[in-house]
Amino acid sequence: MGIFLDIHQFPCLNDNYGYLVHEPDSGETAAIDTPDAERYVAEAKLRGWTITQIWNTHWHPDHAGGNLRLKQEMGCRVIGPAGEAAKIPGLDLAVKGGDVLHLGAARAAVIDVPGHTLGHVAFHFGPQSVAFVGDTVFALGCGRVFEGTMEMMWQSLQRIKALPAKTQLYCAHEYTASNARFAVTVEPENKALKDYVGWIERQRANNLPTVPALLERELATNPFLRADLPEMQLAMGHPGNAAATFGEIRGRKDRF
Ligand code: ZN
Ligand code: FE
Repeated sequence: MGIFLDIHQFPCLNDNYGYLVHEPDSGETAAIDTPDAERYVAEAKLRGWTITQIWNTHWHPDHAGGNLRLKQEMGCRVIGPAGEAAKIPGLDLAVKGGDVLHLGAARAAVIDVPGHTLGHVAFHFGPQSVAFVGDTVFALGCGRVFEGTMEMMWQSLQRIKALPAKTQLYCAHEYTASNARFAVTVEPENKALKDYVGWIERQRANNLPTVPALLERELATNPFLRADLPEMQLAMGHPGNAAATFGEIRGRKDRF
């Protein structure tokens, strides 16, 4: 029997998503990042849940800024990336790639995905086909490479690519519509991308989320995950070099 996880998703701040992950048997609830402590408390209370853990993907204030307030209010344990432990408010436990976190009977593997920040981690619930990827991958996009190198970020994206194709990627932002406008400039002939963009436009027109994103669909459409394809490498002017191709796409997006 699989272990059921109740995932509650809600918009926070301008374009962040908040996530509460609840394991009903144990009653444990994890807050994935803390963009807005008050909102998290309210959303938990509405469901009768008590937040017992905070899992931070990285130190940015729209991800860890609510830690102290939430910890004070709920008495929860703060778990975050070892690679940036000093920058995570209220940290109780530092984790890194290969570690396993427990939420009641459910287990999540920690994956190192540096690049956006140097210690950035993702959390993968394998049996539930769910990954919380923070600002590493977005629907049709990826995080800006602020602290790491293009090579490092490409390595991290390959770790995401290696997850089972049916994995649902829970990204931290709703950036999809603007990502889509860029993606079609990179691969104007990609049929799967065109179909995806049509769906995205309908979702946003109805004020509906485009997240989570199915990895399988991202593999077929997200330009940043496609830097290992020979035709993409050729189009970007870096045949045989996936990291340089990724860097070229990221640079174009930064200037877009
Ligand atoms: Zn960030
Ligand atoms: Fe962010």
